[in-house]
Amino acid sequence: MGWKNTRKSPPKYLVKDLQEDLKSVGVFISTANGVFGPKTEKALKLFQWVCAKMTHCLKDKKHYSRVKTTKILIDGSLNLDTYNELTQWIKDKKEVTGDLIRISFSDLSNIEASPNFKKISSAKVFKSELVISKSAKKLISDINNKAKNESVTIKVNQAFREKSVKLTGAVVTPAKKSQHLVGHAIDCNIVDGDNWNNSTSFKNKKETEGAKKLITALKKQDYRWGGDFTPIDSPDFDLKLDHTTFSYEAKFFLNQRMISLNHEIRKEKI
Ligand SMILES: [Zn+2]
Repeated sequence: MGWKNTRKSPPKYLVKDLQEDLKSVGVFISTANGVFGPKTEKALKLFQWVCAKMTHCLKDKKHYSRVKTTKILIDGSLNLDTYNELTQWIKDKKEVTGDLIRISFSDLSNIEASPNFKKISSAKVFKSELVISKSAKKLISDINNKAKNESVTIKVNQAFREKSVKLTGAVVTPAKKSQHLVGHAIDCNIVDGDNWNNSTSFKNKKETEGAKKLITALKKQDYRWGGDFTPIDSPDFDLKLDHTTFSYEAKFFLNQRMISLNHEIRKEKI
């Protein structure tokens, strides 16, 4: 497992050194024991996933744009491409980070913080901002546009959700794989005139026409509405990231780690 004895094998690389290097770039959290086990394999796979999918990393703790290494194999084995990437990251003092971004409520015409809005604990996030995965940014702009069309206001309770992660294992995924934990969902009430459409309104099928139209419009764009789930979720829209995939696992790890280690979070305009 793990080591590929092909012509494209990397130069001699002690497992302990590999583990230390994976630790430096932020994907391996266990003790470097010199044994290539499942944790090392997963850390390697996570590093490969980052190389292939992520457009940003940290360099000297600052955000740094990178070009995706699309050809890298995401299989947890140490091949030459992975070796070259890893040694370059070490040389450049690069570290993995998540893809969370900050969006100011003041940039959104029809989305506001609700009185119950939960601010992210990171000091890098202001009370006036919501935090979401970069890949779910369009969900926010689409909700805003559709809300504008229907003349309703979205009151946000929560977007990205923090999970107290014990950063001791390689990648510890939660039991309930919520879309909030990766930054792909938003909990909200839909305010239509004087009516707050909240979970009770939806449960009793007392939601307003404006709320109904908004939900229909967003579902047409392939977003999911929490009211369709069993059991019914609180009013919530999401952009599904299949929780059975490695991408979910990777994003969960990277985005939770990003908050718990106080990484910089890019601010983006809608
Ligand atoms: Zn939710």
